[in-house]
Amino acid sequence: MKSKAPVGLWGWRQIEPEETAMGLLLRVAEIQGHSSTERTVKAAGVNRSRLAHGVAAEIAAFAAQVDQDPSRIAADSPTEDRKGRLHLRGHPMGDMLDFGPRRLCPACLDEAWHHRFWWDIRAVATCPRHGIDLVGNCACGKRFTWRGGGLLKCSACPNNDTMTLPRAAADPKVLRKDAYLLSRFGAGEVEVVPILDALPLREVFTTLERIGAACEGYSYEWKSAEALGLPLSTVQARGFEVLADGKLDEVLTKIYDGFIAQGGRPEEGFTSCYGWLYHWFNHKRGAKFSSLLAEAFHVHGAARFPIVPKARLGKLPATAVKKLSLKAAAAKAGVSVYAMKSIGLSLGLIRTEKRSGSQLSFPVDEVERIGRDLKGALSLEEACERLAIGRKAMISLMEGDLLQPALRGGGRRHDYVFRSQDVDGLLAKLGSGTSCAVSPNHGLIAIADLGRGAAATIAECVRKILEGRLRARVRVGGRPGLKGLFIDHDELMEAVTGEVLSFAAAAIRMRLNARGLRKAIDGGLIVGVQPGSKTVPAKTADAFAARFMMLGEIRDRLGGSFPTLRDQLQAAGFDPDPDLEKCLCAGYLRGKIERFVQQVEAGKASLGKPEGSWKALVREAERILSGVSAPLPSKDLLAKLRRKMTIGPSDQADFFYSAMWESRETFVYVEGAGWWLRSRPYLGRTLPLDGPAPTQTEIVDGIVVEMLRRADRPLSQDDILTELKTRSILTPVVDGEVFLRRFFVRHTDKLIKLTGLGYWDRATPYSPALYDPATWKERTQTAVQRAGLWIIKLLTDERRPLTRAELEAMLRDRGIIPGKCTRAYIGNAVGEFSDEIVYLDRVGYWLARKPWPAAGYRPAGRKQAA
Ligand SMILES: [Zn+2]
Ligand SMILES: [Zn+2]
Repeated sequence: MKSKAPVGLWGWRQIEPEETAMGLLLRVAEIQGHSSTERTVKAAGVNRSRLAHGVAAEIAAFAAQVDQDPSRIAADSPTEDRKGRLHLRGHPMGDMLDFGPRRLCPACLDEAWHHRFWWDIRAVATCPRHGIDLVGNCACGKRFTWRGGGLLKCSACPNNDTMTLPRAAADPKVLRKDAYLLSRFGAGEVEVVPILDALPLREVFTTLERIGAACEGYSYEWKSAEALGLPLSTVQARGFEVLADGKLDEVLTKIYDGFIAQGGRPEEGFTSCYGWLYHWFNHKRGAKFSSLLAEAFHVHGAARFPIVPKARLGKLPATAVKKLSLKAAAAKAGVSVYAMKSIGLSLGLIRTEKRSGSQLSFPVDEVERIGRDLKGALSLEEACERLAIGRKAMISLMEGDLLQPALRGGGRRHDYVFRSQDVDGLLAKLGSGTSCAVSPNHGLIAIADLGRGAAATIAECVRKILEGRLRARVRVGGRPGLKGLFIDHDELMEAVTGEVLSFAAAAIRMRLNARGLRKAIDGGLIVGVQPGSKTVPAKTADAFAARFMMLGEIRDRLGGSFPTLRDQLQAAGFDPDPDLEKCLCAGYLRGKIERFVQQVEAGKASLGKPEGSWKALVREAERILSGVSAPLPSKDLLAKLRRKMTIGPSDQADFFYSAMWESRETFVYVEGAGWWLRSRPYLGRTLPLDGPAPTQTEIVDGIVVEMLRRADRPLSQDDILTELKTRSILTPVVDGEVFLRRFFVRHTDKLIKLTGLGYWDRATPYSPALYDPATWKERTQTAVQRAGLWIIKLLTDERRPLTRAELEAMLRDRGIIPGKCTRAYIGNAVGEFSDEIVYLDRVGYWLARKPWPAAGYRPAGRKQAA
């Protein structure tokens, strides 16, 4: 690699302690009188950059040129290992060395004229030995470089005097940090900082910067010297002070408080509470990176929130744990998590609102106290379960001082906590001296089943037993709590008599519903009970029960339904008490009604024949028919009824027909239409009971006949059917045309059919058709016949014979014959009246009964053929 042999160096000195190879190069250049180290390396035949970066071969070559032991030069120089990594005095350096700018301590140079290795460490800013800042510039302001021909040689000025350089007193914090760093290189006094001592030097640099940046307080964003805009050395010095003086806890607290102040919650734990700092630490692999830092985090966090096991912070001394998770707290206190939660809520240790991802935490000393005081405690639900009663009954046990909760959280959710010995003690007291059985005897009732419909509530029963006025009769194994303890209901009744009854118990005793009793009390009807009262003296309830027999009791004794029974009693002459009625209760004076009820029970009196089911059917049919617009056929009415009820006892149509027949005063059946209410006029007719009901045919026939009589022109089938439809009248035969054909046959005496025009009243003349009832006796008048009549009329009016062509034109003008007709049409028309019309040759048609002399015609003669 060297093209020319080096000229060699003639002047050199021994390498000094702490001097680097590059430092010695500068000094040699100075001795040789080189203006730049460029010349020196050329003369020595070495590469300056490779020498600066500690390449072993380059150091060896330089050592040979200056006649030194290469290992002595390498001792304080940066060296490159086999993998190309930089080391200095045995420490891996990474990018912690500066190769560009050069710095120096003028005071050090005053003592000994040579370079020191630690001036090249980027993180070092001062000379700890002299307490001044390192200097990087000549007095003229030019930066020192490695090219100049000496330790102080400047390329811009001839200055060569250390006295011209500034000697600024360094920041003591930075000095302290630099001294530590130097000591790690085996130079200078040693200060013990366990967290740093345990870290490799490169990590020391990083850690100092991180901890220094963390002094700024909580942040989510990562912080570095550069991000903070501060000199690296200053930031590191701050970090060093924190670690050296044991102020890490303070810094962590500052961060944590900042997090909380920004709305953070401790439950979020390590993931959030320490911002970026913990993330950096976790990224560094936590305890594996620095067990001492890990411990600091761990202890700090443990005092503030429960530590999740996945935090990689190593083992924590038990005394450092200050907060426990719900599960851990429950385990430590010896209660279920439910009970623990209730305890925490009752004591205000935790909040009720549950947020996702959050953890409930308990101060460990509280948990220890809870463990001593409330071991095995039960939540409200657990206590309910143990006693096998509902929440409501449980609350009334507490309200009645029959069972005391250990903690009473109150609030909407009632966070009660019970000592299990209290709950078990109550069960034991209630069941003491009770014999065991496999199943309860008839007539016994479990305490847990008391309440609605029983003489007393669960709480009332429990009180009676605790007072010794009642005893549980039997305990059935295998059933929980009060479900397994049975009492005699009659005995319970006896025990509560003479006492004050709860509202519900009183209502049962008085056979009133709760609402009725409330109204009766508030209405002042119950003598001796104040309005708003929640209890009723048993005597008062008994007096009420003795005075009144409520409808419920009567029904129990006689059967039947409430409304019917009430009507029947009314019919039998018993009116309900008017005051009670105001409370929506039906009650009768016992003194008055008792005898009657007994008689009915004995079959000596009757409540009256119960209404037959056909009456209900009739009522419903009446309701349906009052709303329809046309009569309903039987099958339609039956279908509508069946939607509401079964038809008679076995749902037979026969029952329907007989029921309707029974009610013929109400209903009428119009044949061809259906059922109708007699009370409603039908198509203008009333349908009285005396005499047969008209059929639909009769009714519609009458309507159509009347329609034709009133018409001013003949009505076609379409005219009639349209008119019927307009008036919503159904023809009895569904096909209207069929109906009308048959209708005409039925009424030929009254009607005539004018073919092509329509039906017409037979008794009325109709001139456009030349119809005259006096002369026309036939059932119909055809169009041809009508044309014949017209021919007679025209001949009469014209008083002369008319030709076929003349007749055709005239008839056509009058609309008597169609515009296109056969030549035979006139002939056919005349043929209908051969007695009246004759054909005269070459003259035309003429009246048969009149002479026409011009043609020599005389009526005496027979008609002439056309
Ligand atoms: Zn110095
Ligand atoms: Zn200068």
